[in-house]
Amino acid sequence: MGPIRNIQDVAEKHLCTGCGVCAFLEPKGIRMVDDLDQGRRPVVQPGAGVGASFEACPGKGLELPPFDPASGHLRELWEGWGGVLELWEGYASDDAIRFAGSSGGAATALSLFALEARGSSGVLHAGARKDVPYLNETQFSQSRSDLMRNTGSRYAPASPCDGLAQLEAAPKPSVFVGKPCDVAGLKRAQAVRPGLESKVEVSIAIFCAGAPSTRGTLEMARQMGVEDPARIESVRYRGQGWPGHAEVHGTDSHDQPVGGKLSYAASWGDILQKFRPWRCYVCADHTGEFADLSVGDPWYREIPADEPGRSLILVRTEKGRAFLQAAREAGVLTLEPVPAHILPDSQRNLLHTRGAVFGRVWACRMLGVAAPSFRRMGVGKTWLTQLSLKQRAQAFYGTFKRVFTKKLYARRPVVPMPEARTQKELGE
Ligand SMILES: Cc1cc2nc3c(=O)[nH]c(=O)nc-3n(C[C@H](O)[C@H](O)[C@H](O)COP(=O)(O)OP(=O)(O)OC[C@H]3O[C@@H](n4cnc5c(N)ncnc54)[C@H](O)[C@@H]3O)c2cc1C
Ligand code: SF4
Ligand code: SF4
Repeated sequence: MGPIRNIQDVAEKHLCTGCGVCAFLEPKGIRMVDDLDQGRRPVVQPGAGVGASFEACPGKGLELPPFDPASGHLRELWEGWGGVLELWEGYASDDAIRFAGSSGGAATALSLFALEARGSSGVLHAGARKDVPYLNETQFSQSRSDLMRNTGSRYAPASPCDGLAQLEAAPKPSVFVGKPCDVAGLKRAQAVRPGLESKVEVSIAIFCAGAPSTRGTLEMARQMGVEDPARIESVRYRGQGWPGHAEVHGTDSHDQPVGGKLSYAASWGDILQKFRPWRCYVCADHTGEFADLSVGDPWYREIPADEPGRSLILVRTEKGRAFLQAAREAGVLTLEPVPAHILPDSQRNLLHTRGAVFGRVWACRMLGVAAPSFRRMGVGKTWLTQLSLKQRAQAFYGTFKRVFTKKLYARRPVVPMPEARTQKELGE
Protein backbone atom coordinates (compact mmCIF):
# COMPACT_ATOMS: atom_id res chain seq x y z
CA MET A 1 0.00 0.00 0.00
CA GLY A 2 3.06 2.23 0.20
CA PRO A 3 4.26 4.57 2.93
CA ILE A 4 2.04 6.93 4.92
CA ARG A 5 3.20 10.40 3.92
CA ASN A 6 0.39 12.75 4.86
CA ILE A 7 -3.03 13.12 6.47
CA GLN A 8 -4.80 12.08 3.29
CA ASP A 9 -2.88 8.79 3.36
CA VAL A 10 -3.85 8.31 7.03
CA ALA A 11 -7.51 8.87 6.22
CA GLU A 12 -7.68 6.87 2.98
CA LYS A 13 -5.59 3.94 4.24
CA HIS A 14 -7.93 3.23 7.18
CA LEU A 15 -5.67 4.63 9.92
CA CYS A 16 -7.69 7.68 11.00
CA THR A 17 -9.37 7.57 14.42
CA GLY A 18 -11.30 10.78 13.75
CA CYS A 19 -9.82 12.83 16.60
CA GLY A 20 -9.81 16.13 14.68
CA VAL A 21 -6.30 17.26 15.67
CA CYS A 22 -5.18 17.75 12.06
CA ALA A 23 -8.09 20.14 11.39
CA PHE A 24 -7.17 22.14 14.51
CA LEU A 25 -3.52 22.44 13.49
CA GLU A 26 -4.22 23.21 9.84
CA PRO A 27 -7.65 24.86 9.72
CA LYS A 28 -7.21 26.34 6.25
CA GLY A 29 -6.21 23.05 4.62
CA ILE A 30 -8.19 20.43 6.52
CA ARG A 31 -11.80 20.18 7.64
CA MET A 32 -13.57 17.39 9.47
CA VAL A 33 -16.69 15.92 7.84
CA ASP A 34 -19.11 13.09 8.61
CA ASP A 35 -18.60 10.03 6.44
CA LEU A 36 -21.62 7.73 6.81
CA ASP A 37 -19.63 4.49 7.14
CA GLN A 38 -16.30 5.64 8.55
CA GLY A 39 -17.06 8.39 11.05
CA ARG A 40 -15.61 11.89 11.45
CA ARG A 41 -12.82 12.08 8.89
CA PRO A 42 -10.60 14.85 7.43
CA VAL A 43 -11.02 16.31 3.96
CA VAL A 44 -7.63 17.62 2.89
CA GLN A 45 -6.90 20.40 0.39
CA PRO A 46 -4.13 19.72 -2.15
CA GLY A 47 -0.73 20.26 -0.53
CA ALA A 48 -2.07 20.26 3.05
CA GLY A 49 -1.63 17.64 5.80
CA VAL A 50 2.14 17.25 5.65
CA GLY A 51 3.59 19.39 8.46
CA ALA A 52 2.65 19.65 12.13
CA SER A 53 -0.79 18.15 11.48
CA PHE A 54 0.80 14.96 10.15
CA GLU A 55 3.40 14.90 12.91
CA ALA A 56 0.72 15.17 15.60
CA CYS A 57 -1.68 12.63 14.10
CA PRO A 58 -2.27 9.74 16.57
CA GLY A 59 -3.82 7.55 13.86
CA LYS A 60 -0.41 6.36 12.62
CA GLY A 61 0.45 4.85 15.99
CA LEU A 62 1.15 5.48 19.65
CA GLU A 63 4.11 5.21 21.96
CA LEU A 64 4.44 5.04 25.73
CA PRO A 65 7.61 5.88 27.66
CA PRO A 66 9.46 2.96 29.26
CA PHE A 67 8.10 1.79 32.59
CA ASP A 68 9.67 3.85 35.37
CA PRO A 69 9.61 2.16 38.80
CA ALA A 70 9.91 5.59 40.48
CA SER A 71 6.73 6.84 38.77
CA GLY A 72 4.38 5.12 41.19
CA HIS A 73 2.59 3.37 38.29
CA LEU A 74 1.25 -0.02 39.28
CA ARG A 75 3.56 -2.65 37.77
CA GLU A 76 0.84 -5.28 37.44
CA LEU A 77 -1.29 -3.01 35.25
CA TRP A 78 1.43 -1.49 33.05
CA GLU A 79 1.45 -3.91 30.10
CA GLY A 80 -2.30 -4.23 29.77
CA TRP A 81 -3.50 -0.76 30.72
CA GLY A 82 -0.65 1.76 30.70
CA GLY A 83 0.23 3.97 33.67
CA VAL A 84 -2.19 3.76 36.60
CA LEU A 85 -1.39 5.39 39.96
CA GLU A 86 -4.67 4.79 41.78
CA LEU A 87 -8.08 3.18 41.14
CA TRP A 88 -11.34 4.45 42.60
CA GLU A 89 -14.97 3.44 42.32
CA GLY A 90 -17.91 5.69 43.04
CA TYR A 91 -20.34 8.20 41.65
CA ALA A 92 -21.30 11.85 41.33
CA SER A 93 -22.66 13.00 44.68
CA ASP A 94 -25.18 15.15 42.78
CA ASP A 95 -28.08 12.74 42.09
CA ALA A 96 -29.14 14.47 38.87
CA ILE A 97 -25.65 14.11 37.39
CA ARG A 98 -25.35 10.52 38.56
CA PHE A 99 -28.69 9.63 36.96
CA ALA A 100 -28.02 11.45 33.68
CA GLY A 101 -24.44 10.18 33.30
CA SER A 102 -23.51 7.04 31.42
CA SER A 103 -21.83 5.31 34.33
CA GLY A 104 -21.79 7.21 37.61
CA GLY A 105 -21.57 10.68 36.04
CA ALA A 106 -17.89 11.09 36.99
CA ALA A 107 -16.88 12.88 33.79
CA THR A 108 -19.65 15.46 34.15
CA ALA A 109 -19.19 15.92 37.91
CA LEU A 110 -15.45 16.51 37.48
CA SER A 111 -16.11 18.92 34.61
CA LEU A 112 -18.61 20.90 36.67
CA PHE A 113 -16.19 21.00 39.60
CA ALA A 114 -13.56 22.53 37.29
CA LEU A 115 -16.03 25.20 36.10
CA GLU A 116 -17.53 26.11 39.46
CA ALA A 117 -14.71 25.59 41.97
CA ARG A 118 -11.54 26.01 39.92
CA GLY A 119 -12.65 28.81 37.63
CA SER A 120 -11.99 26.85 34.45
CA SER A 121 -12.96 28.62 31.25
CA GLY A 122 -14.87 25.68 29.82
CA VAL A 123 -15.08 22.00 28.99
CA LEU A 124 -14.20 20.82 25.50
CA HIS A 125 -16.13 17.65 24.73
CA ALA A 126 -18.79 16.18 22.42
CA GLY A 127 -22.56 16.34 22.18
CA ALA A 128 -25.46 16.05 19.78
CA ARG A 129 -25.87 18.63 17.05
CA LYS A 130 -28.96 20.75 17.59
CA ASP A 131 -29.83 20.85 13.87
CA VAL A 132 -29.03 17.20 13.03
CA PRO A 133 -29.43 15.27 16.30
CA TYR A 134 -28.05 11.97 14.95
CA LEU A 135 -24.68 13.64 14.38
CA ASN A 136 -22.28 15.00 16.99
CA GLU A 137 -20.37 18.23 17.20
CA THR A 138 -17.65 19.54 19.45
CA GLN A 139 -19.00 21.53 22.37
CA PHE A 140 -17.29 24.07 24.61
CA SER A 141 -19.52 23.90 27.68
CA GLN A 142 -19.38 26.78 30.14
CA SER A 143 -22.27 26.13 32.52
CA ARG A 144 -24.06 23.38 34.35
CA SER A 145 -26.90 23.39 31.83
CA ASP A 146 -24.44 23.06 28.92
CA LEU A 147 -22.83 20.09 30.66
CA MET A 148 -26.14 18.43 31.48
CA ARG A 149 -27.19 18.69 27.83
CA ASN A 150 -24.07 16.74 26.85
CA THR A 151 -23.95 14.00 29.49
CA GLY A 152 -24.07 10.39 28.39
CA SER A 153 -21.84 8.43 26.04
CA ARG A 154 -22.65 8.92 22.38
CA TYR A 155 -21.86 5.70 20.57
CA ALA A 156 -21.21 7.59 17.40
CA PRO A 157 -18.42 9.54 15.71
CA ALA A 158 -17.14 12.71 17.43
CA SER A 159 -13.92 14.67 16.94
CA PRO A 160 -13.46 16.92 19.99
CA CYS A 161 -9.89 17.92 19.07
CA ASP A 162 -11.22 19.95 16.14
CA GLY A 163 -12.32 22.48 18.80
CA LEU A 164 -8.94 22.89 20.47
CA ALA A 165 -8.68 26.47 19.16
CA GLN A 166 -11.45 27.45 21.61
CA LEU A 167 -9.58 25.89 24.49
CA GLU A 168 -6.34 27.52 23.34
CA ALA A 169 -7.94 30.97 23.11
CA ALA A 170 -9.74 30.74 26.46
CA PRO A 171 -8.37 33.01 29.22
CA LYS A 172 -8.05 30.22 31.81
CA PRO A 173 -7.30 26.49 31.65
CA SER A 174 -10.15 24.22 30.54
CA VAL A 175 -11.13 20.57 30.84
CA PHE A 176 -10.84 18.18 27.90
CA VAL A 177 -13.08 15.09 27.76
CA GLY A 178 -12.81 12.55 24.96
CA LYS A 179 -12.24 8.99 23.89
CA PRO A 180 -8.73 7.56 24.33
CA CYS A 181 -7.80 8.41 20.73
CA ASP A 182 -9.04 11.98 21.23
CA VAL A 183 -6.89 12.38 24.35
CA ALA A 184 -3.91 10.88 22.48
CA GLY A 185 -4.55 13.54 19.81
CA LEU A 186 -4.62 16.28 22.45
CA LYS A 187 -1.32 15.04 23.86
CA ARG A 188 0.29 15.04 20.42
CA ALA A 189 -1.06 18.54 19.72
CA GLN A 190 0.49 19.74 22.99
CA ALA A 191 3.85 18.45 21.80
CA VAL A 192 3.76 20.58 18.64
CA ARG A 193 1.97 23.57 20.26
CA PRO A 194 3.60 23.89 23.70
CA GLY A 195 1.29 26.80 24.71
CA LEU A 196 -1.56 24.29 24.80
CA GLU A 197 -0.09 22.46 27.80
CA SER A 198 -0.98 25.16 30.32
CA LYS A 199 -4.46 25.54 28.82
CA VAL A 200 -5.61 22.12 30.01
CA GLU A 201 -6.73 21.94 33.62
CA VAL A 202 -7.21 18.20 33.36
CA SER A 203 -7.80 15.66 30.56
CA ILE A 204 -10.42 12.98 31.11
CA ALA A 205 -10.71 9.92 28.85
CA ILE A 206 -13.81 7.76 28.66
CA PHE A 207 -13.16 4.02 28.11
CA CYS A 208 -13.99 3.05 24.55
CA ALA A 209 -14.46 -0.29 22.79
CA GLY A 210 -15.10 1.44 19.46
CA ALA A 211 -17.17 4.30 18.04
CA PRO A 212 -19.85 3.00 15.63
CA SER A 213 -20.40 4.87 12.39
CA THR A 214 -23.41 7.10 11.71
CA ARG A 215 -24.92 4.24 9.72
CA GLY A 216 -25.11 2.38 13.06
CA THR A 217 -27.15 5.18 14.64
CA LEU A 218 -29.49 5.31 11.64
CA GLU A 219 -30.01 1.55 11.82
CA MET A 220 -30.77 1.82 15.54
CA ALA A 221 -33.27 4.62 14.81
CA ARG A 222 -34.86 2.52 12.07
CA GLN A 223 -35.30 -0.41 14.45
CA MET A 224 -37.00 1.96 16.88
CA GLY A 225 -39.44 3.03 14.18
CA VAL A 226 -37.88 6.28 12.94
CA GLU A 227 -37.21 5.38 9.32
CA ASP A 228 -36.36 8.79 7.90
CA PRO A 229 -33.16 10.40 9.26
CA ALA A 230 -34.51 13.84 8.38
CA ARG A 231 -37.32 13.20 10.89
CA ILE A 232 -35.11 12.23 13.83
CA GLU A 233 -35.57 14.73 16.67
CA SER A 234 -33.42 13.27 19.44
CA VAL A 235 -30.99 10.39 19.99
CA ARG A 236 -29.69 9.15 23.32
CA TYR A 237 -27.48 6.11 23.70
CA ARG A 238 -27.08 5.63 27.43
CA GLY A 239 -27.55 7.21 30.84
CA GLN A 240 -30.67 7.93 32.91
CA GLY A 241 -29.93 4.83 34.95
CA TRP A 242 -27.05 2.40 34.63
CA PRO A 243 -26.18 1.35 32.04
CA GLY A 244 -29.35 3.13 30.97
CA HIS A 245 -31.02 2.76 27.62
CA ALA A 246 -30.92 4.09 24.07
CA GLU A 247 -33.81 6.29 23.02
CA VAL A 248 -34.76 7.81 19.66
CA HIS A 249 -37.68 10.12 18.94
CA GLY A 250 -39.00 11.59 15.71
CA THR A 251 -42.01 11.66 13.45
CA ASP A 252 -43.37 9.56 10.60
CA SER A 253 -44.42 10.79 7.16
CA HIS A 254 -47.84 11.80 8.63
CA ASP A 255 -46.08 13.90 11.29
CA GLN A 256 -47.13 11.43 13.99
CA PRO A 257 -44.65 10.85 16.85
CA VAL A 258 -42.60 7.64 16.51
CA GLY A 259 -39.58 6.22 18.31
CA GLY A 260 -38.76 4.08 21.28
CA LYS A 261 -36.27 2.71 23.74
CA LEU A 262 -33.83 -0.18 23.62
CA SER A 263 -31.80 -1.64 26.45
CA TYR A 264 -28.03 -1.11 26.40
CA ALA A 265 -27.57 -4.81 25.55
CA ALA A 266 -29.95 -4.57 22.59
CA SER A 267 -28.67 -1.23 21.24
CA TRP A 268 -24.91 -1.70 21.66
CA GLY A 269 -24.72 -5.49 21.61
CA ASP A 270 -27.16 -6.27 18.79
CA ILE A 271 -26.81 -3.18 16.59
CA LEU A 272 -24.21 -0.48 17.19
CA GLN A 273 -21.06 -2.50 17.84
CA LYS A 274 -21.41 -4.16 14.40
CA PHE A 275 -20.83 -0.73 12.84
CA ARG A 276 -17.42 -0.03 14.42
CA PRO A 277 -14.93 1.02 11.73
CA TRP A 278 -11.82 -1.06 11.09
CA ARG A 279 -9.54 1.44 12.86
CA CYS A 280 -11.20 0.57 16.17
CA TYR A 281 -10.20 -3.11 15.64
CA VAL A 282 -6.54 -2.08 15.53
CA CYS A 283 -6.72 0.31 18.47
CA ALA A 284 -4.39 -0.54 21.35
CA ASP A 285 -5.52 2.12 23.83
CA HIS A 286 -9.14 1.65 24.92
CA THR A 287 -8.79 3.14 28.39
CA GLY A 288 -7.12 6.52 27.86
CA GLU A 289 -3.46 5.91 28.64
CA PHE A 290 -2.49 9.49 27.74
CA ALA A 291 -5.09 11.14 29.98
CA ASP A 292 -4.77 12.53 33.49
CA LEU A 293 -7.90 10.60 34.53
CA SER A 294 -9.80 7.79 32.81
CA VAL A 295 -13.39 6.79 33.53
CA GLY A 296 -15.33 3.67 32.64
CA ASP A 297 -17.79 1.10 33.91
CA PRO A 298 -17.01 -1.13 36.88
CA TRP A 299 -18.63 -4.14 35.19
CA TYR A 300 -16.98 -6.67 37.52
CA ARG A 301 -20.25 -7.69 39.18
CA GLU A 302 -23.91 -8.20 38.32
CA ILE A 303 -25.68 -4.83 38.10
CA PRO A 304 -29.12 -4.75 39.83
CA ALA A 305 -31.86 -3.23 37.64
CA ASP A 306 -32.35 -0.22 39.93
CA GLU A 307 -28.64 0.62 40.31
CA PRO A 308 -28.34 4.42 39.76
CA GLY A 309 -24.81 4.29 38.35
CA ARG A 310 -21.17 3.85 39.29
CA SER A 311 -17.89 4.87 37.68
CA LEU A 312 -14.47 3.30 37.74
CA ILE A 313 -11.83 6.05 37.82
CA LEU A 314 -8.16 5.55 36.99
CA VAL A 315 -5.66 8.16 38.14
CA ARG A 316 -2.87 8.24 35.56
CA THR A 317 -0.82 11.37 36.32
CA GLU A 318 0.11 13.52 39.32
CA LYS A 319 -2.02 16.29 37.85
CA GLY A 320 -4.96 13.87 37.74
CA ARG A 321 -4.26 12.73 41.30
CA ALA A 322 -4.33 16.29 42.67
CA PHE A 323 -7.47 17.18 40.70
CA LEU A 324 -9.38 14.07 41.80
CA GLN A 325 -8.33 14.57 45.41
CA ALA A 326 -9.61 18.15 45.36
CA ALA A 327 -12.92 17.01 43.82
CA ARG A 328 -13.25 14.26 46.42
CA GLU A 329 -12.50 16.63 49.29
CA ALA A 330 -15.08 19.06 47.95
CA GLY A 331 -17.66 16.24 48.10
CA VAL A 332 -18.27 16.30 44.34
CA LEU A 333 -17.67 12.56 44.03
CA THR A 334 -18.40 9.80 46.52
CA LEU A 335 -15.51 7.38 46.08
CA GLU A 336 -13.73 4.43 47.59
CA PRO A 337 -10.34 3.05 46.58
CA VAL A 338 -10.41 -0.33 44.79
CA PRO A 339 -7.63 -2.86 44.16
CA ALA A 340 -5.87 -3.17 40.80
CA HIS A 341 -7.63 -6.41 39.77
CA ILE A 342 -10.94 -4.55 39.53
CA LEU A 343 -9.77 -3.10 36.20
CA PRO A 344 -9.20 -6.39 34.33
CA ASP A 345 -12.22 -7.89 36.12
CA SER A 346 -14.35 -5.02 34.77
CA GLN A 347 -12.99 -4.75 31.24
CA ARG A 348 -11.74 -8.22 30.25
CA ASN A 349 -12.88 -7.69 26.63
CA LEU A 350 -10.66 -4.62 26.28
CA LEU A 351 -7.64 -6.59 27.46
CA HIS A 352 -8.38 -9.28 24.87
CA THR A 353 -8.73 -6.65 22.17
CA ARG A 354 -5.35 -5.17 23.09
CA GLY A 355 -3.78 -8.60 22.68
CA ALA A 356 -5.64 -9.29 19.43
CA VAL A 357 -4.30 -6.01 18.00
CA PHE A 358 -0.85 -7.59 17.84
CA GLY A 359 -2.08 -10.38 15.53
CA ARG A 360 -4.28 -8.03 13.49
CA VAL A 361 -1.45 -5.58 12.88
CA TRP A 362 0.90 -8.38 11.80
CA ALA A 363 -1.70 -9.90 9.52
CA CYS A 364 -2.16 -6.48 7.89
CA ARG A 365 1.60 -6.10 7.41
CA MET A 366 1.91 -9.54 5.83
CA LEU A 367 -0.75 -8.55 3.30
CA GLY A 368 0.80 -5.14 2.62
CA VAL A 369 -2.10 -3.29 4.30
CA ALA A 370 -1.36 -0.15 6.34
CA ALA A 371 -1.48 -0.66 10.11
CA PRO A 372 -0.74 1.59 13.10
CA SER A 373 2.50 1.06 15.00
CA PHE A 374 2.53 0.71 18.77
CA ARG A 375 5.74 1.12 20.77
CA ARG A 376 5.96 -0.04 24.37
CA MET A 377 2.15 -0.40 24.49
CA GLY A 378 2.36 -3.98 25.74
CA VAL A 379 0.41 -5.45 22.81
CA GLY A 380 2.91 -8.28 22.22
CA LYS A 381 2.97 -9.31 25.87
CA THR A 382 -0.81 -9.09 26.14
CA TRP A 383 -1.07 -11.28 23.00
CA LEU A 384 1.13 -13.90 24.64
CA THR A 385 -0.32 -13.83 28.14
CA GLN A 386 -4.03 -13.07 27.72
CA LEU A 387 -5.09 -14.83 24.52
CA SER A 388 -5.62 -18.55 24.06
CA LEU A 389 -4.18 -20.24 20.97
CA LYS A 390 -7.65 -20.24 19.45
CA GLN A 391 -8.08 -16.49 20.07
CA ARG A 392 -4.69 -15.81 18.50
CA ALA A 393 -5.62 -17.82 15.43
CA GLN A 394 -8.94 -15.94 15.22
CA ALA A 395 -7.18 -12.57 15.38
CA PHE A 396 -4.94 -13.59 12.49
CA TYR A 397 -7.43 -15.29 10.24
CA GLY A 398 -10.23 -12.88 11.06
CA THR A 399 -7.98 -10.09 9.77
CA PHE A 400 -7.09 -11.99 6.59
CA LYS A 401 -10.83 -12.28 5.93
CA ARG A 402 -11.57 -8.64 6.76
CA VAL A 403 -8.79 -7.36 4.53
CA PHE A 404 -10.81 -8.71 1.61
CA THR A 405 -14.40 -8.26 2.81
CA LYS A 406 -13.71 -4.67 3.90
CA LYS A 407 -11.33 -4.02 0.98
CA LEU A 408 -8.66 -2.79 3.38
CA TYR A 409 -6.05 -3.29 0.64
CA ALA A 410 -7.51 -0.35 -1.30
CA ARG A 411 -7.58 3.36 -0.60
CA ARG A 412 -10.97 4.58 0.52
CA PRO A 413 -11.66 8.25 -0.12
CA VAL A 414 -13.51 10.21 2.55
CA VAL A 415 -17.08 10.84 1.39
CA PRO A 416 -18.76 13.76 3.16
CA MET A 417 -22.28 12.82 4.07
CA PRO A 418 -25.11 14.87 2.61
CA GLU A 419 -26.86 16.06 5.73
CA ALA A 420 -30.33 15.21 6.98
CA ARG A 421 -31.23 13.23 3.91
CA THR A 422 -33.74 10.42 3.87
CA GLN A 423 -32.82 6.82 4.52
CA LYS A 424 -33.77 6.06 0.89
CA GLU A 425 -31.34 8.65 -0.42
CA LEU A 426 -28.64 7.24 1.84
CA GLY A 427 -28.89 4.01 -0.12
CA GLU A 428 -30.79 1.77 2.32
C1 LIG B 1 -17.89 5.03 21.62
C2 LIG B 1 -17.94 4.64 23.07
C3 LIG B 1 -17.48 3.38 23.48
C4 LIG B 1 -17.49 3.03 24.84
N1 LIG B 1 -16.97 1.82 25.25
C5 LIG B 1 -16.86 1.55 26.58
C6 LIG B 1 -16.21 0.39 27.08
O1 LIG B 1 -15.70 -0.42 26.30
N2 LIG B 1 -16.13 0.19 28.42
C7 LIG B 1 -16.68 1.07 29.29
O2 LIG B 1 -16.57 0.87 30.50
N3 LIG B 1 -17.33 2.16 28.87
C8 LIG B 1 -17.42 2.42 27.54
N4 LIG B 1 -18.06 3.55 27.11
C9 LIG B 1 -18.81 4.34 28.08
C10 LIG B 1 -17.98 5.37 28.81
O3 LIG B 1 -16.62 5.20 28.74
C11 LIG B 1 -18.37 5.32 30.24
O4 LIG B 1 -19.72 5.36 30.42
C12 LIG B 1 -17.65 6.39 31.06
O5 LIG B 1 -17.60 5.86 32.36
C13 LIG B 1 -18.29 7.77 31.09
O6 LIG B 1 -19.33 7.77 32.03
P1 LIG B 1 -19.64 9.03 32.96
O7 LIG B 1 -20.93 8.72 33.64
O8 LIG B 1 -18.46 9.40 33.77
O9 LIG B 1 -19.79 10.12 31.82
P2 LIG B 1 -20.85 11.29 31.66
O10 LIG B 1 -20.87 12.12 32.90
O11 LIG B 1 -22.12 10.74 31.14
O12 LIG B 1 -20.12 12.14 30.52
C14 LIG B 1 -19.80 11.57 29.28
C15 LIG B 1 -18.78 12.46 28.63
O13 LIG B 1 -18.28 11.82 27.47
C16 LIG B 1 -18.34 12.70 26.36
N5 LIG B 1 -18.64 11.91 25.17
C17 LIG B 1 -19.77 11.21 24.93
N6 LIG B 1 -19.71 10.57 23.75
C18 LIG B 1 -18.50 10.88 23.22
C19 LIG B 1 -17.84 10.52 22.02
N7 LIG B 1 -18.43 9.72 21.11
N8 LIG B 1 -16.61 11.00 21.80
C20 LIG B 1 -16.01 11.81 22.69
N9 LIG B 1 -16.58 12.19 23.86
C21 LIG B 1 -17.81 11.73 24.12
C22 LIG B 1 -19.46 13.66 26.68
O14 LIG B 1 -19.29 14.87 26.00
C23 LIG B 1 -19.33 13.80 28.20
O15 LIG B 1 -18.41 14.81 28.53
C24 LIG B 1 -18.02 3.93 25.77
C25 LIG B 1 -18.46 5.19 25.35
C26 LIG B 1 -18.40 5.56 24.02
C27 LIG B 1 -18.84 6.93 23.60
S1 SF4 C 1 -6.38 10.50 13.43
FE1 SF4 C 1 -6.86 12.62 13.94
S2 SF4 C 1 -5.09 13.81 13.24
FE2 SF4 C 1 -4.96 11.78 12.25
S3 SF4 C 1 -5.98 12.04 10.27
FE3 SF4 C 1 -7.53 11.33 11.70
S4 SF4 C 1 -8.50 13.19 12.49
FE4 SF4 C 1 -6.56 13.80 11.54
S1 SF4 D 1 -11.70 2.13 19.80
FE1 SF4 D 1 -9.86 3.37 19.90
S2 SF4 D 1 -9.75 4.32 17.86
FE2 SF4 D 1 -11.82 3.56 18.08
S3 SF4 D 1 -12.95 5.35 18.83
FE3 SF4 D 1 -12.32 4.11 20.62
S4 SF4 D 1 -10.39 5.01 21.31
FE4 SF4 D 1 -10.78 5.76 19.22
